[in-house]
Amino acid sequence: MAKIIDGKKIAADIRSEIKAETEKLTAAGKRAPGLAVILVGDDPASHYYVGSKQKSCDEVGILSFKTVLPATASEQDVKDVIQKYNDDENVDGILLQLPLPDAIRANTQEVIDTILPSKDVDGLTTINLGRLVSKDPAVVYPCTPKGCMELLKRYEVETSGKKAIVLGRSTLVGKPISLMLNNANATVAMAHSRTQNMEAEVRAADIVVAAVGVRELVKGDWLKEGAVVIDVGINAVEIEGKRKLKGDVEFESSEKVASFITPVPGGVGPMTVAMLLSNTLELFLKKTD
Ligand code: NAD
Repeated sequence: MAKIIDGKKIAADIRSEIKAETEKLTAAGKRAPGLAVILVGDDPASHYYVGSKQKSCDEVGILSFKTVLPATASEQDVKDVIQKYNDDENVDGILLQLPLPDAIRANTQEVIDTILPSKDVDGLTTINLGRLVSKDPAVVYPCTPKGCMELLKRYEVETSGKKAIVLGRSTLVGKPISLMLNNANATVAMAHSRTQNMEAEVRAADIVVAAVGVRELVKGDWLKEGAVVIDVGINAVEIEGKRKLKGDVEFESSEKVASFITPVPGGVGPMTVAMLLSNTLELFLKKTD
């Protein structure tokens, strides 16, 4: 049976570490780090995520700022808010909650690129993604992939020389985590919706990262014995009238084959928020060095 990777506990440990740091800063008379979150539209999941991010900021002593724009907001409206936070010296990190509403979604990258790279807390500006490719130490790692790597590190999973497969190739998760695993000396394959015979590709891998958004796509009998499974997927389903979250990996069959596995919920999800806080602190420290 696989060892369960307890993202909730690791995230709580990281939050305590951050809290200790912010307390030291404020005790020394410095200002607290600040995170600004921008939310466009009325997607309930996005509102929930933003609420939980703000609550986490409060808990660790990070100041949080929030702007909510209506779903009818223009691209320029969003850029104006970003600019306001770019100019605000109490703000160290700016997060644009995705996805943007349909009317402006096609220009997501252009809007993100309005964020100053030095305040790009989710590492998604073209500049930061380029830094990831070129292994520039100034890089800010995107939060979810950084959370996955942190889990591997804290559970002492060897990546060097291992075969990894990443399912999904989004700019938010799949592509950056592939590069980060590659930078950590894994031999990385990327699979996506056009991949042929995905099952065979997965079976070759020592480390499987699933980020596709398809409920329980990966089954236990796809996995190599002893594989390490990081399940990024969050799929809301209704089971017996109750809303539940399921991953991209079928947990029950996979935990019998894997050596380590993240549950959903309680795996990667809490790490994303912890990494957001960690990146905010990092950007603050870079600025005030
Ligand atoms: P996305 O929709 O942008 O990208 C999905 C990717 O999966 C695409 O590259 C697509 O080619 C691939 N894909 C789709 N169907 C496939 C299939 N049948 N087989 C193989 N590949 C397929 O999604 P995203 O933003 O990368 O998110 C992926 C999942 O991760 C979603 O469930 C999302 O909710 C979740 N997510 C979780 C966190 C977290 O904090 N845990 C953060 C971000 C995203």
